[in-house]
Amino acid sequence: MRAKIVVANWKMNMDYSEGLALFSNIVGMVRVEVTGFQQTVVCCPYIHLHGLAQLAVGHAAVSVGAENCHEAEAGAFTGEISARMIRSTGAEYVIIGHSERRKYNCETSALICKKTAAALGNALKPIVCIGETKEERAANQQFCVLKQQLDESVFPLGKALFSQLVIAYEPIWAIGTGQTASPAQAQEIHQFIRRAIAERYEQDTANNATLLYGGSCKPDNAAELFSQVDIDGGLIGDASLNAREFVDIVKMYN
Ligand code: PEP
Repeated sequence: MRAKIVVANWKMNMDYSEGLALFSNIVGMVRVEVTGFQQTVVCCPYIHLHGLAQLAVGHAAVSVGAENCHEAEAGAFTGEISARMIRSTGAEYVIIGHSERRKYNCETSALICKKTAAALGNALKPIVCIGETKEERAANQQFCVLKQQLDESVFPLGKALFSQLVIAYEPIWAIGTGQTASPAQAQEIHQFIRRAIAERYEQDTANNATLLYGGSCKPDNAAELFSQVDIDGGLIGDASLNAREFVDIVKMYN
């Protein structure tokens, strides 16, 4: 059975104490209210990683992740953070290739592939983001855009490494806009991604791949999105900054 996970992406929000308080609330609610088998992952700014990982000790259903990592193992890269450093905090996951990093930091799919390899080489589980722009969807180019992103960001890794990562489909037009993809639109794309994995590797690899949806996912639309056969969870931005809203989304699997 493939893993079901709901991932928070705090982005550049929360000072240190605010982050600890929000995470404590999330952990407390998950402990009491979440009875399903899904994993809750909180991806946060680097400054929070160690503190949150400490608070997560003893709570197997909650994990911590970073929002980015550098592709190199170590070296003269002032201001950067390596996958090994992230792992040493106790974090287990890392988001790679979020559309905001592709846009504001000019990250290419080739770079994202290197970062993903670095994460896997340091026992981190990468959550690799792909997604089309509004213009690409209007031109009905979403399938070829996504296929190219898969071809360049993750497929070069090979089946063994690919099997250890998570893919998040995040239509860029839905991120932070309140305009979520309809469950049918999201399912169509997730089915397409799963087929592309089967064509590249084999059906078993596709069946076992965890595919998340991200983009204005909220408590009132999560249940329908998560009930689609090829959607295995969500990547949650805005709503993850509120413990009540975020845990309500996690609970949609219960
Ligand atoms: C995101 O940025 O990963 C995201 C899904 O944001 P939001 O939920 O705010 O659309």
